[in-house]
Amino acid sequence: MIGALLMLALSPAAASDEKPIHCGNCAGWNAPHAPFKLHGNSYYVGTEGLSAVLITTPKGHFLIDGGLPQSAKAIAANVNALGFDIKDVKWLLSSHAHFDHAGGLAALQRMSGAPVLAAAKSAEALRSGRASPEDPQYAPDNTMPFPVIGNVQSVKDRQQITLADVHVTAHDTPGHAPGGNSWSWHSCDSGHCLTIVYADSLTAVSEPDYRFSDHPDYLTAFRQSIDKIRVLDCDILVSAHPEFSNLFERTKTHSLIDATNCRKYADAAEERLDRRLKQERSK
Ligand SMILES: [Zn+2]
Repeated sequence: MIGALLMLALSPAAASDEKPIHCGNCAGWNAPHAPFKLHGNSYYVGTEGLSAVLITTPKGHFLIDGGLPQSAKAIAANVNALGFDIKDVKWLLSSHAHFDHAGGLAALQRMSGAPVLAAAKSAEALRSGRASPEDPQYAPDNTMPFPVIGNVQSVKDRQQITLADVHVTAHDTPGHAPGGNSWSWHSCDSGHCLTIVYADSLTAVSEPDYRFSDHPDYLTAFRQSIDKIRVLDCDILVSAHPEFSNLFERTKTHSLIDATNCRKYADAAEERLDRRLKQERSK
């Protein structure tokens, strides 16, 4: 009886950070996707609609983003399928503090023991398990909660995190969310070295009452983020949602290597933001 009670006490606790979040897109986003090599030591390990990238080194690995809470198991399984161990992940890197990218980080932290790294504003939100009040998608009655993350450290713009000879650089890219971060690193395959960029979402979306034009400083920072991504050294682009840069189509139809992809991604984001501002003016 005590054994059974202990089992009951232990098993729900282990999975509470994987409790599914339900949303209109969640099931489609969370559909499984087979992991694949991007280049050298870097692999796509995310789901159908939510990116996650594993960067391996002999001294442990980086893992960028965790999808939804219910994505964590699939991401860990993808890491294992490639022959790596989730327990060897030393750093979890976050793009932005929304439930669909940060939702799985608490579970992945439990599985790996790795700290989560994020920009200061994002770190605050990740520790609280909800989007920050200055987030365009924040609404007091809908704070998009996700599992609270215990061990979060903040990074500064251009800060490098190193494991073995791999240096991953943080790029502050606020706009879609206040603490947005993009990440870049060099990856070599038999002496063929490329720069890979994991670009955060740059989409101007918000709660219905929010107007970007009412927040000029935020808007300026958003435009700076778009400009920053536009000029990044960028041989391979992975966007936080794979479809925003046609990632899977690019793997099927032609090479992933295309130095114009970050520019195209930024141009599309700028167009969308301008369209959004025009709508706000006409209201
Ligand atoms: Zn988001």
